[in-house]
Amino acid sequence: MPIIQVTPNVYQITDRRANMFLLIGQKITVIDAAFRSSVPLVAQTLQESGRSPRDIELVILTHNHLDHTGGIGELKKLAPLKIAANKVDFDIRDGFIPMPGGVFTRTLFKLPLFSIMGRRMLLDKTMIDIELSDGQVLTENGGLQVIFTPGHTPGSISLYAPEEKILFVGDALNKRYGLPLRAASMNNQQAARSILKLAELDVNILCFGHGKPIKVGAAIYMRNLAEKLQEKQKD
Ligand SMILES: [Zn+2]
Repeated sequence: MPIIQVTPNVYQITDRRANMFLLIGQKITVIDAAFRSSVPLVAQTLQESGRSPRDIELVILTHNHLDHTGGIGELKKLAPLKIAANKVDFDIRDGFIPMPGGVFTRTLFKLPLFSIMGRRMLLDKTMIDIELSDGQVLTENGGLQVIFTPGHTPGSISLYAPEEKILFVGDALNKRYGLPLRAASMNNQQAARSILKLAELDVNILCFGHGKPIKVGAAIYMRNLAEKLQEKQKD
């Protein structure tokens, strides 16, 4: 299903396995931009719920990967919106995001083909209107809380909607694999620390960058994950 109504005011839109989210309040907030081809579904969902795509006020990017940023250009055609993100992921030097670790990714990025692709796949910081900080509360966007969760990328963020206790994790958590994979993280230890940080939140619903939301047992899912990570750290 390309469109899932997560709660009365929150929709998940899925296109080519990448998710983006619409938060429909007084103002309309979008989390992540998936792909260009996802944007018609955004317009459709808003129209069906009696709202105009022109009312999109803010797009928050969880991190700088093409399957989360690809629709930005098309979204900007819908409304005079602003783009918010953690600038760390958009501070591109020599065509790359500064990477603290992750030998696998660094080696991969050194290959000529991937390096050209990498450059084309990244947005730079001139695209960012609002630089987010850790712990920031977006009062005009339903009180969304910004949580820095580096690891998958150095500037990955998660967002927590306290009223409905929804946690949007981007790719900080991988639904299929659970624990952070070395191949999917630029810094695996950081990724593990970020998950432990998220596990401290009171969560009812978990929304991922890929896969369906967890609407039942989200708190147990997070607790199990944290326990597994803590056990792993003891080894
Ligand atoms: Zn990603």
